[in-house]
Amino acid sequence: MSANEPESPTETPGVPERGKRSRAARVEPAPPERVMSIHAHPDDQEFTVGGTLAKWARAGSEIVTVCLTSGGAGSNDHTPPDVTRDSLVPVREDEQRRACRVLGISDVLFLGYEDGMLEPSLALRRDLTRIIRRHKPEAVVCGDPTMRFYGNMYMNHPDHRVASDVVLDAVFPSAETRLIFPELLGEGLEPHKVRWVFIHGSAQPDTFIDIASVLDVKIAALKEHKTQMGPWDPADMITGWAREQGAKRKIKAAEAFRLMRLHED
Ligand SMILES: [Zn+2]
Repeated sequence: MSANEPESPTETPGVPERGKRSRAARVEPAPPERVMSIHAHPDDQEFTVGGTLAKWARAGSEIVTVCLTSGGAGSNDHTPPDVTRDSLVPVREDEQRRACRVLGISDVLFLGYEDGMLEPSLALRRDLTRIIRRHKPEAVVCGDPTMRFYGNMYMNHPDHRVASDVVLDAVFPSAETRLIFPELLGEGLEPHKVRWVFIHGSAQPDTFIDIASVLDVKIAALKEHKTQMGPWDPADMITGWAREQGAKRKIKAAEAFRLMRLHED
């Protein structure tokens, strides 16, 4: 809960039960047992939540990384001119696996959607519902679909907006509702309730993970995305972001989240 929100629970008109705000997350949440980190592209996770995942992995969390695309459109100023989408895909998948190994994550899934062309389709929602029901994460980590602009220099990538929008739709209501995608029941996939959604990049962060002890791990993981980094060293930028995100709570280095607590104990 941010400083300018009331401490007592408030209600959303017309949504009496689920609209209630949960208790403020003043204390850093304990590492969830099972986590699914879902992003549009290889490297999104390392830029945004790599510190949190490294910290949780070291604490024993089981983490699955899901990339909706394999980053086939990830060309930039230093991409050799003969690189094609098809030739880039296996390289970027390998970079993502290496980055995950640095973070302590061994399980990486690529769903094979086209980079740069993600759509908020029912097919994508079904695919995400399927893997959520299969892996049964307590916590899902994703971006904030309501973010269109960051400052005046970055317009959020459409794939990022679509990815986070569909992830949230898959978490609720699809994953936990028996008769949404009933065909999944035929695959033996029963409904599953995700308890927490950690949303990064939000304008309303209320939960701060101290990543000072793993900041170097976050930077090392990001550097595994060699096709994207080129000669650039991201250390100063990542350190600056961590400082900015922690400033509100006087934490030296943090990743900030809007935390949705969908099912409390
Ligand atoms: Zn991206």
